[in-house]
Amino acid sequence: MKNDANPNWFANSPLSRINIEKDQEAFFKARLANPDSLVIPLWRGEPLMTDGKPAFLSAAALPEFPKSADVILLGLKDDRAYFGVDVSAAASAETAPFTDIGEYVQLRIAAGVITRDDLAIIGQARWYFEWRRKHRFCANCGGETRLEAGGAKSRCVECEEEHFPRINPVAIMLAIHEDSCLLGRGHQFPPGFVSALAGFIEAGETPEEGARRELFEEAGIVIDNVRYQFSQPWPFTCSLMMGFLADARGREITMDTEELAEVRWFEKDDVKAVLNGETRDFNVPPKFTIARQLLERWVKE
Ligand SMILES: [Zn+2]
Repeated sequence: MKNDANPNWFANSPLSRINIEKDQEAFFKARLANPDSLVIPLWRGEPLMTDGKPAFLSAAALPEFPKSADVILLGLKDDRAYFGVDVSAAASAETAPFTDIGEYVQLRIAAGVITRDDLAIIGQARWYFEWRRKHRFCANCGGETRLEAGGAKSRCVECEEEHFPRINPVAIMLAIHEDSCLLGRGHQFPPGFVSALAGFIEAGETPEEGARRELFEEAGIVIDNVRYQFSQPWPFTCSLMMGFLADARGREITMDTEELAEVRWFEKDDVKAVLNGETRDFNVPPKFTIARQLLERWVKE
């Protein structure tokens, strides 16, 4: 279902998801055999693209894929089924299937080109294949797992335990003090690039508690009034990003130098100028990130 209140890329998929427990197998097979169904191949998370668009193929092309390739049912749009096929077994993007009609493009690059609807569909496919890549064996007994029909879960061939996609919850938060917000940079990012601070939520913690803990650990900032804004499925790390705005009690920073290379307060007018492309005094994350969407929301407040 559409949720127009969520501004995030990878969210708001146009597909309705299918979970028909009883006859999932029959439904899956019938839709795979229907040439009206569409298939998007991904090589190691990179979608096949042609002319700046995802190359959705007819399901009639399925016999041309390797038999071992994982196939997942993503959902339905206008009664047409969409599937993702993982062609990662190919040694390179150049030798993967269907390079005669297009090329496999990094998702971060594709994200800036394709429609939001297509990005949500492809992000979903990438998410499942990323989960599948990292969870091929049963966490219960170590046996091999196989995708169940549809691909939304896997099952162990030894002990028959069911396994569902692992979703890693992350709190990402913008601490605000008067007309400034706190932005920082991890060691992995180049100088001049700053973003909202973020961290994985720990077991037994609420997202709001995680947000408070992370800001205190990384910057020594105490926050109140932690306000949930929106969330984003983030297929690169199988994370569910939960975005917050929060009020800082003060401005004094104690930086965790192991986690961060830089963290400081930025005035709203300066952030606005960067968001609008008027200055390049510093760089913020691209529009397809939730960090950017938090900044956009804050400057409009
Ligand atoms: Zn098992």
